[in-house]
Amino acid sequence: MKNNDNYKLTIGWLYPELMSTYGDRGNIISLQKRCEWRGIDVKILRLDFGFRISDLKACDMLFMGGAQDTQQTIVSKDLKEKKQVLREMIEDNIPGLYICGAYQFLGKYYKEADGTIIEGLDILDLYTENPGENAKRLIGNIVIELNNNILRAKQGGVEKFSTSSNNTLIGFENHGGRTYLGKNVKALATVKVGFGNNGTDKTEGAVYKNSFGTYLHGPILPKNPHFADHLIKLALEKKYLPAMQDSKALQAGKKTIQLKELDDSLELQAHKHIAQGLGVTI
Ligand code: GLN
Repeated sequence: MKNNDNYKLTIGWLYPELMSTYGDRGNIISLQKRCEWRGIDVKILRLDFGFRISDLKACDMLFMGGAQDTQQTIVSKDLKEKKQVLREMIEDNIPGLYICGAYQFLGKYYKEADGTIIEGLDILDLYTENPGENAKRLIGNIVIELNNNILRAKQGGVEKFSTSSNNTLIGFENHGGRTYLGKNVKALATVKVGFGNNGTDKTEGAVYKNSFGTYLHGPILPKNPHFADHLIKLALEKKYLPAMQDSKALQAGKKTIQLKELDDSLELQAHKHIAQGLGVTI
């Protein structure tokens, strides 16, 4: 199998103190370890409140976790001045994972239970509203099936994630906000068990270019190592094979970066066990 040890990645961790709930930090550990186990030189750059734009620009991948409304209000103030650069990076295919409150930030706005509006970055065509204090929170374990739009065409077929034979993601959700997608953004997945974006239309998360928004805490990446690898692969290809961002090149079956395989048998067994416990056979 390929050796990955000539590669270097800088992963930007946005607001690690303020935006990190329900084990979201585990996503950073998962990305870091999965790179290190392959010999990829990985640097985690903490982007705390007031961080420098030059640090943001140095990142090959971005991650931001979820939070309560109070923290979101604080962070939204700092994000305002970073909006333009963040937009440029997302438009430029810099891979990113945005969980729950962070996912809500990518949209136009988040309306809190009392009607207060927290302005979003308005990068993705979506908005989020909490219907009010009496509305139930959307809490529990969740199983979703990834939509085809995130699988990349390869030689007329479909390129599956390297370490898994399924397209299922499992996680834990806890949110009051209901997210509604506009025409210019695609859902990441379809809900099998749980609530997802709004508890009604069966959509979960959103995908735009190489950016993924989702309600899945858990944390999502240790529970779904195939998804962690997808992000790492996207970041490496963006950095080292920029032509691969062109879907025509992929369809022509051009060479892509192959990640060294890891033994994920335990993780995948746990993944399967949880899904089955929730009534989903994979
Ligand atoms: N405050 C948001 C909501 O409840 C986000 C919650 C979270 O990130 N877990 O909808």
